Amino acid sequence: MAEQLTTRDVRAHNRSRVLRELVLSQESTRGGLALACGLSPATITNVVGDLEAEGLVEDRGSVPSDGGRPIVRIGIRPDGAYLLGADVGEKGVAVELFDLSMRRVDREFRDAATRGASPAEISAALQEAVRAILDRNAALRDRIVGLGLGLPGIVEDADGTHAGAGVTLHAQSLGWPPLHLDELLAAPGLDVLADNGAKALAAAEMWFGSARGVDHALVALLGRGVGLGIVTSGRLLRGARSSAGEWGHTKIVANGRPCRCGGRGCLEAHVGSDALLSAWRERGGEPDGSGWRALDALVTAADAADPAAAAVVDEALDVLALSLANLVNLTNPQKVVLGGWVGLRLMQSRREELEARVRAASLDRPGSQFEIEVCHFEGDAVALGAALLPLEKLIDSPVVRTPVTG
Ligand SMILES: [Zn+2]
Repeated sequence: MAEQLTTRDVRAHNRSRVLRELVLSQESTRGGLALACGLSPATITNVVGDLEAEGLVEDRGSVPSDGGRPIVRIGIRPDGAYLLGADVGEKGVAVELFDLSMRRVDREFRDAATRGASPAEISAALQEAVRAILDRNAALRDRIVGLGLGLPGIVEDADGTHAGAGVTLHAQSLGWPPLHLDELLAAPGLDVLADNGAKALAAAEMWFGSARGVDHALVALLGRGVGLGIVTSGRLLRGARSSAGEWGHTKIVANGRPCRCGGRGCLEAHVGSDALLSAWRERGGEPDGSGWRALDALVTAADAADPAAAAVVDEALDVLALSLANLVNLTNPQKVVLGGWVGLRLMQSRREELEARVRAASLDRPGSQFEIEVCHFEGDAVALGAALLPLEKLIDSPVVRTPVTG
């Protein structure tokens, strides 16, 4: 297959490399691009010319160089293309619009009427939010590349394209029946792609956050649910049908607490926010609700040595550390990145303690070969990560697209 690469293939491949590099660096020079992409200066000049014609990159003037010709700065043209990303949760839907510099330029949030909303309610919220954001940005419509959805559950992907009839959401923990992508959203004329929410967050961290440039990483998302992206050799581990990384339902306690998925002893049933708050309630705590404020009160009380709260947090750290150490032994990461609102709050108070426990529970070698860090994006990057799905599609577009006018 590879021996018959056509000029067109080579050109498309070079275009992808240069465009990817420019989205990552935002601005560079021909020399910088040649170095980063391993291409000749002449090739860079051609590719940049093509990308300028597509309206995706721009000449940003020149800077003087030492005794030579001025160096031209080349940057991403923010208004050259737009990407939509959505964070679809059980509580509501956030749809965000990004320009090509991946700056968020618009946002639409729709709350579900009830906690534990039905697929129909969530689908209606998504439909409304997408319509609202498209209506508001009608002038940009022909430059919106597509919409990526970050979904709450296994997103089975038959052919690896993240799109079309082969994509099915299996949200077992929410008690939803399997849903095809088109049952979730009907958006004629809009390219819709989907991935699991935790994988979308991991992608955002890989492109622009704490896992950037890291070939082997674990990006963990702790909230009500517990998710994970496993980065191995610079790519997200997916498995046969893209469900790999369902860490929240790995069994950590034999015959442990019942989980939303129907099993027992799942990690999520021991360190998810609901689990922590009910454990506190069982020990006499009185959390206010089930959200951020209640969890913050729990960790604050534990920090102040309240015995019940301290016992709950201590137990959670223990289980979390064991589970992370299992992953460290299995995957040998360079970096462990923790995020999600529960993860961030625990890291804020107990980072050193958690790190020490993970290292202690890991084998000595892999246990000394990783750094632990908080997510760069404070739990709010599922939509950004999902918007990377249409961005990838734009980058890997096999043909030079029609130039954008205006
Ligand atoms: Zn479970």
